[in-house]
Amino acid sequence: EVEQNLCFNGLCQDSNNKINNSLPNDVSEDLQEARKTLPVYQVRFRLLEEIRKHNTMILIGETGSGKTTQIPQIIHEHRLEGKGCIAVTQPRRVAAITLAMRVAAETNSEIGSIVGYTVRFEDVTSSHTKVKYLTDGMLLREAMTDPLLKKYSVIILDEAHERTVNTDVLFGIVKLAQKERDEHKVNTLKVIVMSATMDVDAFRKYYNNCPVIYLEGRTHPVTIYHSKTKHEDYQYAAVCTIFQLHATTPADQDFLVFLTGQEEIETVMSNIKQIAKEAKGPQIRVCPLYAGLPAVKQLQVWKKTPPGMRKIVLATNIAEASVTIPQIKYVIDTGVVKERTWCTSTGAERLVVRACSQAAGWQRAGRAGRTTAGAAYRLYTAADFAARQQHNTPEIVRCPLSSTMLMLIATGMDPSTFPLLDSPPRDSIQAALILLKEIGAIDNENNPKLTVLGKKMTAFPIDPKYSKILLCAPEHNCLEEALSLVAVMSSENVFHTPLHKREEALKVKQKFISPLGDHITLLNVYKAFCKAPLKKQWCRENYLNHKNLSYASEIRQQLLGVCQRLNMTVSSCGTALDQLLKCLLSGLFTNCAWARAGAGGGGRYVTSAGVAAMLHPSGVLHAVRPAPPAVLYTELLHTKRSYLVTVSAIQPQWLHQVAPEYARRCRANR
Ligand code: ADP
Ligand code: MG
Repeated sequence: EVEQNLCFNGLCQDSNNKINNSLPNDVSEDLQEARKTLPVYQVRFRLLEEIRKHNTMILIGETGSGKTTQIPQIIHEHRLEGKGCIAVTQPRRVAAITLAMRVAAETNSEIGSIVGYTVRFEDVTSSHTKVKYLTDGMLLREAMTDPLLKKYSVIILDEAHERTVNTDVLFGIVKLAQKERDEHKVNTLKVIVMSATMDVDAFRKYYNNCPVIYLEGRTHPVTIYHSKTKHEDYQYAAVCTIFQLHATTPADQDFLVFLTGQEEIETVMSNIKQIAKEAKGPQIRVCPLYAGLPAVKQLQVWKKTPPGMRKIVLATNIAEASVTIPQIKYVIDTGVVKERTWCTSTGAERLVVRACSQAAGWQRAGRAGRTTAGAAYRLYTAADFAARQQHNTPEIVRCPLSSTMLMLIATGMDPSTFPLLDSPPRDSIQAALILLKEIGAIDNENNPKLTVLGKKMTAFPIDPKYSKILLCAPEHNCLEEALSLVAVMSSENVFHTPLHKREEALKVKQKFISPLGDHITLLNVYKAFCKAPLKKQWCRENYLNHKNLSYASEIRQQLLGVCQRLNMTVSSCGTALDQLLKCLLSGLFTNCAWARAGAGGGGRYVTSAGVAAMLHPSGVLHAVRPAPPAVLYTELLHTKRSYLVTVSAIQPQWLHQVAPEYARRCRANR
């Protein structure tokens, strides 16, 4: 329903998701006025002086004060970057894109000329680009080919408080690059670490007691209310609070509600719409905002509502600091966040909803004080808040590190001495190195060097297990298929199953289903998508996500480019799909599970790491009897139980063919 062109501060996004910004001059003048009111703009001369004086600094400022959009511009306006380029990193892809678009609009330039962005599978920059917004992952990739990051004279590591693995690793990379460039008299590298609130002491120490600059915020007071009692159901509490406020406040005061993820947001959204039909008060527009939401829909959040209509934004923690939504008067904070955690001994990922930190609580409340005084309703008690941990746990101590370790080794760093702000558990590094050794990316675990295969793996911007699949595909004669499959697996969910049409969607899915499992089913979907002449309509009719499938086809294009550069033979295995499954296994052989013997064992498996798990009910093998004796899975997910997600049946002897050493060890352990 949002297929018409959407205007977003003078930027138009057409239906092909390509960005064109033809800016009328008056828009740019308005933007110039808006710039001037930002706190950062007002102290620009003092800031410039500090940036000139120091090569490293930490800059702390309230969200919305203009750090991310203004500081790179100010540096560029005074040509402090010299011949080099200014990099601004963001943990999230959406943030990198929207910020670059905003700054291009403010500088009245085409996106991709002076101001550009680079995110995975998309590079909108040119040789003229001086201000480049990029995800932390992309800068890390650049460091693999140029560890000194010589192209850049200023590197701004933004949203430091989020402590993503990639940003944490970049802290070390830029620190070493800076030192080395100084020693070898290569052009100086200026590093600016920017953040909302954060644990400054640790950062200062890490950066040799560099100066810290605090920006005065331009915020208005926010009154904070806590619940008097504990709520059992925070979604219900959120909906009640929304309608209490809705009945008593004017329509031009918008709400921002913090929830944990897409499913929850969709549920609450449909509840609100239901209740709104009968509720008193102004008309309502509900806008979801989460990372997986199609970009066009995300932009809805910034669209003004007509007078007399209230906007209610339902967001994940993406709205905490990375993006600023104007006009928010009331924040409703459920006090929870969904995090992926990972268990080193079993390799299982776990999605857990947990209490967010105090820092996150302050950050969320702060969103209410942007334009005028506001209020934040915490749906938890003051005592609960006081008992919470002060800051978020850095991602690096709770996530798999194989990609990160591979990049570090490729950059020529020694994982055991690399300077990290917080060290991950030894187990976790060890597990990553063992996996890299097993898939043949490194030669040993103690003093690891990349193998020839490992070197090739780093050419692909994807998980090393997936690049292994592509690199093994020519010998299985199936690179055509492997490319499609890896591309689909690197995109987001391609099935679109609306809650109220579940039955219908499942019926339509039947025609894609392969008895071999979910992987071939995904491949069938992708192949059919490529053949469909009217793709959008076809996707709608088949309950498929058009945006995610188109994204997969862009990813495929990129991956194909890498394969061609590596001179790989692109051929098809036709109907010999066993070949493709064997090829998949060559990358994912550590993800095998065996059917449990014994009564009623249907659908019950044990993984090679010894975890008992069931086939996920969404998978095509779920209902198959007898259950296949051995399977290969893409993901092991723990919710209330453990599930194998995206699963294919395999022949047990294949494991011996593609990974004999590993197969022997598995057998010994079983
Ligand atoms: P900070 O990095 O300090 O949080 P930003 O530089 O991101 O601040 O944003 C500064 C201001 O610019 C915001 O308060 C908002 O008013 C405006 N702004 C930034 N991005 C956008 C956008 N995409 N659309 C509309 N306004 C924006
Ligand atoms: Mg910012």
